[in-house]
Amino acid sequence: MRAWQLRALSPFFTSPAYIPLSYLSILQEVFGYDSFRGPQQSIIEHVGEGGDALVLMPTGGGKSLCYQIPAIARQRAGHGITVVISPLIALMHDQVGALHEAGVSAAFLNSTLSGEEAYQVEQRLLRGDVTLLYAAPERVTTPRFLAQLDSLFERGQLSLFAIDEAHCVSQWGHDFRPEYRALTVLHERYPGVPRMALTATADDLTRADVLERLQLEQARAFISSFDRPNIRYTIVEKREGSTQLLRFIEREHAGDAGIVYCQSRKKVEDIADMLRQTGIKALPYHAGLDSKLRQTHQDRFLREEGMVMVATIAFGMGIDKPDVRFVAHLDMPKNIEGYYQETGRAGRDGLSADAWMCYGLQDVVNQRRMIDEGPAEEDFKQVMRGKLEALLGLAEATDCRRVRLLAYFGQASKACGNCDNCLHPPAVWDGSEAAQMLLSTIYRIQQHSGISFGAGHLMDVVRGKRSEKVLQHGHENLSTFGVGRALTELQLRGVLRQLLALGAVMVDVQAFNTLVLTPQARPILKGEQAVRLRHSLSTPKVAKVKGTGSASALKAPVDLDAAALARYAALKAWRAEVAREHNLPAYVIFHDATLAAIAQLAPSSIGDLQGISGMGVKKLEAYASEVLRVVAQA
Ligand code: ADP
Ligand code: ZN
Repeated sequence: MRAWQLRALSPFFTSPAYIPLSYLSILQEVFGYDSFRGPQQSIIEHVGEGGDALVLMPTGGGKSLCYQIPAIARQRAGHGITVVISPLIALMHDQVGALHEAGVSAAFLNSTLSGEEAYQVEQRLLRGDVTLLYAAPERVTTPRFLAQLDSLFERGQLSLFAIDEAHCVSQWGHDFRPEYRALTVLHERYPGVPRMALTATADDLTRADVLERLQLEQARAFISSFDRPNIRYTIVEKREGSTQLLRFIEREHAGDAGIVYCQSRKKVEDIADMLRQTGIKALPYHAGLDSKLRQTHQDRFLREEGMVMVATIAFGMGIDKPDVRFVAHLDMPKNIEGYYQETGRAGRDGLSADAWMCYGLQDVVNQRRMIDEGPAEEDFKQVMRGKLEALLGLAEATDCRRVRLLAYFGQASKACGNCDNCLHPPAVWDGSEAAQMLLSTIYRIQQHSGISFGAGHLMDVVRGKRSEKVLQHGHENLSTFGVGRALTELQLRGVLRQLLALGAVMVDVQAFNTLVLTPQARPILKGEQAVRLRHSLSTPKVAKVKGTGSASALKAPVDLDAAALARYAALKAWRAEVAREHNLPAYVIFHDATLAAIAQLAPSSIGDLQGISGMGVKKLEAYASEVLRVVAQA
């Protein structure tokens, strides 16, 4: 038995005189985790000793502990409370609940509290009975709240400010919140109180803005690797997106919680309906639903098992559900930043998870149109087009997706072995000739008719189809009519997508989405630049069917034998009951991985339960005997 477990057993640990030996012991005792992840330890030490910090970590990297552990340590050392500033009002209740479960005194102040409830929290603050206080930015800067902070500050009881989702301060970020700008008051009014800013938004512009706006230029920056090795990236060609999605869920993720992103509200509704009709638990979420219903759906997603949220990008910021097993994109996002942030919501618990996207030519056209028709300045549009092309490049890549993703964020890496291209290297063909056929046909059509046409018509001409439109415009007389007969429409569409990705062809949204050549077409037409393409498979690859395929099949995060699986099921049922009683999501009580470890171990004494990841001292105290009873009866 390890030292911290021995300490945990002794009655001594509950006495107020108890001072932690180290941050590691807090991690182990309070949160039940073995070791720090990535840079957590250096961040925690730096902030724990009173330093300012900027923390950049991918979603799911473990940012919360970076302020929670210093908060606990500093409170125990007599420094008073930590104020956590977060825009995510809807999630504060659960965050505070999770801390309570771990035995940490926490509270929140936001607009959902009644006057009386807020008053109670204020009283606790004044008594020094709170280690972490979560507050919305607009609340923090009110005169009333500042007066309370003043009083804490004067008594040396203001320990730390943690500014979560710090990119909200920046106009360049995607979630600009003007209230964040007012947070400079903290620095001015409470000099010497350490501050840390945390975000998962990586780009340089946003980072610089955060440092400047929050006056954190002197802070130490901690920038983590952006890799999420447990997420498997897969990008497939869109045929019938909804059927492909359905197959993906049924084959790979029956009974799992997941998020499906769609572009439009209507599509969100349609896909949610479609999933429900096939027996999959699914809910819609988009900005068009009234806010109460949105909140209900979010709560159900967090609290119920195996729920699929079908949503626009309005959904997801701050959602810290750890067991989201897949994130699917049914439409292409705007850029790689968005894609990475959305897919990052999968697998926060570190267990394997899927990021699956299906995309087609129409997605490219739509995204292009949204940029071109948007109100922004031309310079800005140019940046957006560049970003879209980078995403297209990722989608059409024939080499490791992760290498490309990380390279986009300035990080070099080796082929990952955990993306579709690494696992099933795609067949590649020399598409130069096909590319030339398409490009020269676009050129000839334009020459012949003086106007350009869209993709469908182009396909007809290249494949030699005498459609009504072809005949009407006399395009059957073009020299390239039918040159691509040997190719399927699917192949040609693949070629066209690549040409769009390469910027050799542009969609002219001012003129009915017609296709026009750009100067980049020239080297391809002249045979100076080869075009290597991934094979468009005529039949979609069928993944091996896992489990029974039924939507209700119970899956554990590790392989369990039948007896252990029965224990796992019993533990899950018990957990659901506790979660309901406490009005908290199940994962706040125990993660799936913790239940699976218990099920595998079949513990018969409290000693057996110690050291299981996720089993902190408070949870051991609160739940050990119940867990042992459930295991014994299963
Ligand atoms: P972020 O806010 O960076 O997206 P979280 O703080 O929500 O990430 O952490 C993601 C998950 O990882 C949480 O479920 C958390 O309990 C878990 N976690 C964080 N640090 C550790 C650690 N050192 N060991 C095990 N699990 C951890
Ligand atoms: Zn790879």
